[in-house]
Formats: sequence, C-alpha cells, structure tokens
Amino acid sequence: MKKNARVVVIGGGIAGCSTLYHLTQEGWSDVVLLERNDLTSGTTWHSAAQVTNFGMNQTMVGLKTHSINLYKELANDPDHPINYNHSDGGIRLANTEEQMQGYRHFASMAKGMGVDFEVIDAKECQRRHPLISTKNLIGGLWDPHDGDIDPYQLCHSLVRKAREAGAKVYTDTPVTALEQYKDNTWKVSTEHGDIDCDIIVNACGYRVNEVGAMMGVHHPVASMEHQYFLTEDIPEIAQAGHRMPLLRCPISDYYCRQDKGGLLIGFYEQNCKTWGMDGIDPNFVNALCPDDLERVVDVLDGAFERMPALMNAGIRSIVNGPITYTIDGAPLVGKIPGKENAFCIIGLRAGLGEGGGHGWLLAQQIVNGEACYDTWCLDPRRFTAHANVEMTSLKAIEDYQNEFRFHFPHEHRPAARKAKTTSLTPIMAAENAAFTVINGWERVEYIKPSEDFHPSLSFHFDETFDIVAKEIINIRDNVGLCEVNGFNRFEITGLDAENFIDRMFCGNITHKPGRVGLGYLLNDFGMVKSEATIANIPASDRGSTRIWYGSAAASEFHDMDWLTQHINADEDVHIKSLTNDQTILIIAGPKARKVMSACSRDNWSKEVFPWLSVRECFIGFTAATVMSVSFSGELAYEVHVPNSSLYAAYLALSEAGKEFGMKLFGSRAVESMRMEKGFLSWKSDLLTEFDPFETGLDRFVNLKKDNFIGKTALQKRVKDGPKQRLVCLGVDCKHAPSHSGASLIENGKVVGTITSGEWGHRVNQNLAYAFVNPEKSKPGNKMTLNLLGEMISVKVIPFGAYDRSYSRLLA
Ligand SMILES: Cc1cc2nc3c(=O)[nH]c(=O)nc-3n(C[C@H](O)[C@H](O)[C@H](O)COP(=O)(O)OP(=O)(O)OC[C@H]3O[C@@H](n4cnc5c(N)ncnc54)[C@H](O)[C@@H]3O)c2cc1C
Repeated sequence: MKKNARVVVIGGGIAGCSTLYHLTQEGWSDVVLLERNDLTSGTTWHSAAQVTNFGMNQTMVGLKTHSINLYKELANDPDHPINYNHSDGGIRLANTEEQMQGYRHFASMAKGMGVDFEVIDAKECQRRHPLISTKNLIGGLWDPHDGDIDPYQLCHSLVRKAREAGAKVYTDTPVTALEQYKDNTWKVSTEHGDIDCDIIVNACGYRVNEVGAMMGVHHPVASMEHQYFLTEDIPEIAQAGHRMPLLRCPISDYYCRQDKGGLLIGFYEQNCKTWGMDGIDPNFVNALCPDDLERVVDVLDGAFERMPALMNAGIRSIVNGPITYTIDGAPLVGKIPGKENAFCIIGLRAGLGEGGGHGWLLAQQIVNGEACYDTWCLDPRRFTAHANVEMTSLKAIEDYQNEFRFHFPHEHRPAARKAKTTSLTPIMAAENAAFTVINGWERVEYIKPSEDFHPSLSFHFDETFDIVAKEIINIRDNVGLCEVNGFNRFEITGLDAENFIDRMFCGNITHKPGRVGLGYLLNDFGMVKSEATIANIPASDRGSTRIWYGSAAASEFHDMDWLTQHINADEDVHIKSLTNDQTILIIAGPKARKVMSACSRDNWSKEVFPWLSVRECFIGFTAATVMSVSFSGELAYEVHVPNSSLYAAYLALSEAGKEFGMKLFGSRAVESMRMEKGFLSWKSDLLTEFDPFETGLDRFVNLKKDNFIGKTALQKRVKDGPKQRLVCLGVDCKHAPSHSGASLIENGKVVGTITSGEWGHRVNQNLAYAFVNPEKSKPGNKMTLNLLGEMISVKVIPFGAYDRSYSRLLA
C-alpha cells in the first residue's frame, strides 16, 4: 500500500467513489480510497437507486443535473457501458392546492437551472402512469429526467475512471485510527499499514461516527431503517407498452419505480425506526435488517388504492436497510467544523441520485476552496454545538415521516425544539409568541393574536399578514422591542487585531473607539463570503480595548473557521466566541431614545451618541453594551447583555417602554423592514456566487487598500465586468411574496433569479431582490416573474424604498 497521498477518502460507497473520481477530474491524481470491505458494501449495494432531478433549491437541482449528465456519460461508455434507465420520467403527486403551489414554485426555480419540470393535472398524471387512479388526486409535478441506475456498476465505473487517472483504491482495508500532525496533515492507520496524507474525507455512510470518533468529532447524522419490496411481473405494465415513470406520493408516503416487469415500492412509514443508535455490529457488511412489512401497513394501503393492479401482484423480495439522515434532511458535504484539512460527504439519504453532484462539489471545495455554487445548504457548519445524536435522531424521524412533504414557507416542524433558549423564551411564549428556529435558537417570529392561532401553510400571503403589519406600524409610529438570541458575536483582541481585521474585510473598517462599522469578507475568488459589524469598544473598568465582530446567527461555525484559518503564525490575534453568552434586545422606533433615557442615566442624544456608536452602560442596574445600529430603518438601539442578566434588562426596558406604547415584535417584521430599507441578508442575497460589485456593495469595497483577502481576484473580475447584478424589484402582485429561486423571464428566457421577497408594510409595496443579467438591472426596467406559475410584472426600483434620506435613523 502507498505510504503517502494528497487525499485519503475513507469509504467506498457512492459518496467516496464519486469524490475520488471528481478529485481526479479536478486534476489531483495522488488520491487514495480506503474501503473496509468491498466497494458498495454499506448502503449503496441495496439502494433502490432512483435518480431524480428534483431539489428544493437551485444548488440541489444543479448538483442533481450534474449527476444525471455524468451517469449518462458513464452509461454510454462504449467499452464499459452501465445500466441506467434515464428516460422514464417521474411524477410527484399532489392532493391539495397548496402542494400544487409548491410544485409551481419548484418548476419556476428549476427553470433557472435549465431544468424543465411540468405541472400537470390528475388526468395527465394517469395518462403518463396508466397504473394509477385519479381518486383524491389534483395533479403533480413531472420531472422528465427521473430514472434509476445500477449502483454497483455506477461505483465501479467511477472507480475505474479514477484509477485510470492515477487514483489508488484499497478494499478490505478498514481505517482504524486517525491522527493529526502538528502541521495539520494526517496519519491514517489501517489494518494493512499507515498512510500519511494532507487531507482526509469521511465518506463512511452509516459508520460515519465510528470514523468521526477517531478524530474527536461527532457528526449530526443518524440512521433509519428503510424498506422497499419488489413485485412479480404485473400484466398491466406489459399492456401499457412503455416503462412506468417513477412516482413519489406525499399523500401516502411511498415511492415506486419499474423493476423488470414489476414494480419496486419503498415506504416512509409513520411507525419508523432509528438504527444503530447504540453501535453497529462490525460484521454488518453487505447486510440487511430483518424484513418488517408489518411496520409499513399504514402506507401500504395508500399505495394499493392508488395502484389497484398491485393487489394481485406477488412480492418477489423485500429489502430493509439503514439510510442516513441529518437534522434538516440535506447531507453534510464540505469542511468539518473546527478541523483543518478534514472534509466529509455524509448523511446522504438520496445518495445515488445526488452522489454524483455531491462528489463534484466536494472535490471543487477540496481543490479550490470553493465550489461553483454556493454550498451553504450542504455545509456541515450550518449545525453547531446543539446538534447532538439524540436531537439528530428526533429530526431524522420527523424528516423520514415527512419525506415527500416539502417545507412550506415559515413552516417550523415540532421535533427537537427548544434546543437553545434564553430566560426570555417562556416570557415570550406567555406573550403568545410564535417561534422560528435559527441555528437551534428559538426566536420570536411574531406575536399571535390568540394562543390557538395557527396560520395556514401556503406560498401565498397568509393570516399573519395583518399581524406583522401591525407590529411594523407600531415600530414606525412608537417603539418596539425584539429579542435577538444567538446573534453571532466574537470578541477579537491582541496587538495585531486591527491589522487582521483590515486584511479580512474588503473595505475601510473604522478603528475609532466607540464607533461601529459594517463590512464584507471575500473569499480567495473575490466573492462575498460573509458580512459583519465591527464595534470598537473603548477600554473601561470592564476590560481593555476590544473589537466585537457580529454576524448572522447561522454563521457561528462558518465565520469562526474562516477567521481562525487566516490568523498568521506570527500574529497576536485572539478570537473568543460570545455567541452563546450574550443576547441582544432591540429597541426600535422614533420613541426608542425616550425608552433608553427612561431606564439608563447616560445621555442618549444624537449629539453624544449618534448613529453607529457603541458604549458600555447600565440598563436599569444591568451592565450592557449598546450600539446605535438599525436593521429596521428606524432609530434603534441594540442592547447586548450577558444571558445571566437578560431578564433584568428586559424588565427595565419593558417598564420604561410602557409609557411610550412599546410592543413586542419578531423576525417576520424585521425581514419586511430590512427589505424596505435595502439591507441584505446572508445566504439569501449575500452568496459566494457573486462579487461585492455584483451584489451592489460598491461603497463597502476599497480596491486602493494595501491588501485584503480576494483583492487580486476581485480586480480581475472588475476588468471582466459583472455577470449578474442584484436589484430591488417592485412586484405587481397582492396575494403572494416572491419566493427565493423563482425565475425572471423575458422573451421566454430566464434573465434573473429571486433571492428574497416580502411585503413592505411601510411603503405598501410587494418587494423582491433578484440577481439579473446586467443589461436588465437599470431602474425602471420591466420583466416578468414566474411566481407560482403566474406571470407577474415586476419593475426594477432603487434599493431602500423607505426613508431614502436616512432621516429616521439620524433623527
Ligand atoms: C432501502 C433503501 C433504498 C434507497 N433508495 C434510494 C434511491 O432510490 N435513490 C437514492 O438516491 N438513494 C437511495 N437510498 C439512499 C442511498 O442508497 C444512500 O444515500 C447511499 O447509498 C449512501 O452512500 P454512502 O457512500 O454515503 O454510504 P455507504 O454506501 O454506506 O458507503 C460507506 C462506505 O464506507 C465504508 N466504511 C465505513 N467505515 C469504514 C472504515 N473505518 N474504513 C474504511 N471504510 C469504511 C463502508 O464499508 C461503506 O462501503 C436508499 C437507501 C436505502 C436503505
């Protein structure tokens, strides 16, 4: 066995084989795959192996399209063809108008990735799949590229091509230990000797945490038992004269594809079971769990009703095997949080369909540091410390039970809630708060009119519209209070802290004590990596001068990784996370200053404490750090307090606010107000696929600065000109917001993609942001938006429709 390699991929299922192949495609040939048994001997060998194009966002659709194109290429290899049925097509069924709305949105979204889904009615579903009845069916989504592949042949084909490019593959070679050297390279120990390598990749399927434990990492991945059966031949299929398309049924939770002259039917039963929670038998290789059809009786009936021909079909065989899930159903593909030179491609629950694309995006990240798409929806760092195995298994059960029921906008499912709370969570609940979840934190979304208020799940504006409007109007006219827990906060200290900050941000960042500034971090390609506020806290009896770095709640692990990996060995820079220790109370509205003055002895006048200031003070008797910054466009203060004194600060502010009509507000109001004000949101509008000029952040870039990360690449991009531009749109629609991913069309061609959409209650206008072709970006330019299948007129308008002069912030 080789003694050294650039990359060692551990695991020879579809995830590992695809990664190995794509590393060689990226030009790295000194790569090794280690497999404890045979290739495909984990989950891959017994997969139903359906390959679909459907995804909930453009990254997923794009990576699945890559799988399909790659698999076609492998299938058509003249010397080593493989079995891939890629023209059966497939239908996702719907029995509610809301599901159909969703399908119309996904069709609009996929169009931007060059994929043509079709929304069809019940009769057309039946015409394309003659075995189904139309009872209790409205229609469905047609995916023309659905099919199925031979998983064994697929993996062997990928490995053969990787080997031809120089890769080495060792089977029957279990990895037994991992050790990281001081220079962050790795020693991989196996039963047949050790390999030193620069980078390791965990692709170990349901054994992910056996290998994770070898490097002191726990991955939030849990396994579920999952079952399908194969039928004998069904005469109605032969009579149809063509292969049956795939079926996915969110009504009765099963999928189905043709297998030989019969069907393969897989089930997502409510009475589902986790697997391997207390360890996995080392001899579970090429193995299955015991058959258990009793468990799926609830869903079996639905399948029989939909396809009566099944009643007479004999069962040929049953397959019950482990399948992995994460907390949100999407896999973990990318850098392992907190580890250098370590990546993973794990938690794949549709690994055959997606594996080609995931391996492609991972190899790009390993070789180039970034992939062609923004991969946040797959990034392992999107879950943080709360994501333990017990929580993951609860979410896995919930995801499994809802496998084909996509999330609606603002739908927050109940499993494993309250992972992270503050002393105010019960107080807010008693005030009838509805909660959303951000990075595990329970955050107030809006205040419900009654305890039993449950808005409908819909892609249209729902019953919360007027509630959010009222919260905003009270902020506009009086003052509101909002708890922002889990906001990401790092304290940066050290002799080189200022230089470090300057290098990390692409624009000028103020270092004046007592001042706050907003800035952007770019990656090595000059694309937008992160957004953060920098607050310079003067020395006081609470500590010496220090910098507070504040960014989106979800970016906790992501930003920490990015910052720490850029501290030079000779730099004196220390980063401490305060994210889980501090909470923000926002006081926003024209009477905010009066509220602050009523509970604090400091001078809050605009002359002494103007916009973009920071100070340490007392709110009542609670020590707080206050910033005059605003995401709402109103005069506002962020009151940062340690969690231990949060309740006391809240009481002081609430008491002070009474006489000024202060009311609670939540994240839905914030989302609407920030769009009216022209502010952007990380990973909605701020993406690694665009540079800061394309994103309209010109005033936050200083190309004359000595140096900053991404500068050289950005200079080159400037010469080449923008590929797209972010614009604000007025949307001529009263009944639905624009949903992220929806396509803008002109003359039948996609000219842009929505990133955010909300109703602006203060400007009384439906607003959206979108990346569009540069020639479409001029104010006044009109386009058509495919919004839930309706063709809606939109017009480019300047950003910041509300209070363009900033008079309310500066008041
Ligand atoms: C019943 C069923 C039906 C399914 N149907 C579909 C479908 O229709 N379409 C679809 O897309 N997906 C489907 N899936 C899911 C899909 O099969 C999986 O997502 C995919 O196979 C996972 O591949 P993997 O490479 O991540 O894991 P695995 O295939 O489990 O591979 C992991 C590999 O790592 C190796 N390994 C583990 N530990 C070590 C070690 N210490 N050293 C070296 N090697 C190690 C294992 O031996 C194994 O070969 C189905 C799954 C099930 C259970």
